[in-house]
Amino acid sequence: MKQADYVIIGAGPAAVAAAETLRSSDINGSIAIISRENISPYSRMALPYFLTGQISQKGTYLRKSSDHYKQQNITLYHATVAGIDAQNKQVALESGGRISYGKLLIATGASPIKPPLPGLDLPGVHHCWTLNDAKAIAERAGDGANIVLMGAGFIGCIILEALMSRGASLTVVEAEDRMVPRMMDDVAGNMLKSWCEHKGMTILTSTRVASVADAGGKLDVTLDSGDSDIVDLVVVATGVKANVDFASDMGLEIEEGIKIDQHMQTNLPDIYAAGDCAQGRDFSTGLWSVHAIQPTATEHGHIAALNMSGRKAAYKGSLNMNVLDTAGLISSSFGQWQGVEGGDSAQSIDAERYRYTNLAFEGDRLIGALTIGRTQNIGILRGLIQSRTKLGVWKTRLMKNPNRIAESYIANTHM
Ligand SMILES: Cc1cc2nc3c(=O)[nH]c(=O)nc-3n(C[C@H](O)[C@H](O)[C@H](O)COP(=O)(O)OP(=O)(O)OC[C@H]3O[C@@H](n4cnc5c(N)ncnc54)[C@H](O)[C@@H]3O)c2cc1C
Repeated sequence: MKQADYVIIGAGPAAVAAAETLRSSDINGSIAIISRENISPYSRMALPYFLTGQISQKGTYLRKSSDHYKQQNITLYHATVAGIDAQNKQVALESGGRISYGKLLIATGASPIKPPLPGLDLPGVHHCWTLNDAKAIAERAGDGANIVLMGAGFIGCIILEALMSRGASLTVVEAEDRMVPRMMDDVAGNMLKSWCEHKGMTILTSTRVASVADAGGKLDVTLDSGDSDIVDLVVVATGVKANVDFASDMGLEIEEGIKIDQHMQTNLPDIYAAGDCAQGRDFSTGLWSVHAIQPTATEHGHIAALNMSGRKAAYKGSLNMNVLDTAGLISSSFGQWQGVEGGDSAQSIDAERYRYTNLAFEGDRLIGALTIGRTQNIGILRGLIQSRTKLGVWKTRLMKNPNRIAESYIANTHM
């Protein structure tokens, strides 16, 4: 049976960050990464750039040198993990083999959800989640192609520009009453909608796809309004779910994802979890949440590896944070942008110029922010929230004019 001191399931950013940290913390330990995708570890975040043709397949790889993992003495296995035998400290592979571990990291990420609608298994209906998905989309999304994008959430908004840039005609269908509903309030979501409409997209909010049917190689998409259209491609971006099913009957505590403590350890000995499959500490609320973004995955992987190699490292929690470039309009949301009971909020709106700032406070501390059209001072917003800076008199000034962010930061760092 194969064995390694450290076995990592998954080959995304959480896994790669963990493997490299393990290598620097434990020079002699054996490290194995198991990935079900038969390809060099790559970044899903790079897929939109692959779709626009700005980068090649190699450009999506997390590490570009072809012998990077060999040089680091990290073994890559291409196999799907079917289960974990925690008692005997082994992972079971779908192919029948087993690999025993000293310490195990589950970094299996998430998978896109397909709503239970007729026709979503037809050729020409794709997620945009893997490199193979992106290749399949590229084949159908040529100049003049008609595309329906289901879902205007974080991932939908990231890929819509890539689809447009291929010369396609795009209709976005979103069930909620605004775009990016989990990241934006009404004002911001509708500003984004208006921006996309001006860019030539059709944005249908409060609308659902009812069914998709074959139309002689094309796809007949019917909406819940009864309207229908013949299109070349349907892209489904309607949410994701943590990849934890293979580990669901072994006593691991699982809610939205695998529950981990501040050392990234699960409730079972010698088993850790990181990234999109893990429900880690939320910096803002102190509760446990899945923050499915790459910076969180990388940080999780790094902290998990330090603890796996015996160096106690505590994680202060991930900040709920999204920065989007939607067809050229930058938007961002941080922390508790919805505000908290008893807290204050301040808004500045310039609808004509697509500018919006919404700040949320608890006492005199900034706890969340939402911006549209702001390319400067985004790092400052994050910094003020994460440092829990007491703003004093600057809270009153920001309530009057939320755009004085940089001044408030400078004033508070020089006090
Ligand atoms: C199109 C797109 C654009 C994105 N853009 C951004 C962005 O701009 N900014 C941002 O912060 N985030 C972005 N994200 C989200 C980001 O990619 C994820 O948060 C990040 O990939 C999570 O990393 P991870 O290592 O936890 O999981 P993943 O990257 O999903 O990696 C999981 C790995 O586990 C493997 N695996 C799963 N199950 C098994 C199994 N049973 N056996 C073996 N291997 C298994 C998978 O094959 C994969 O290699 C984007 C995502 C997509 C799809």
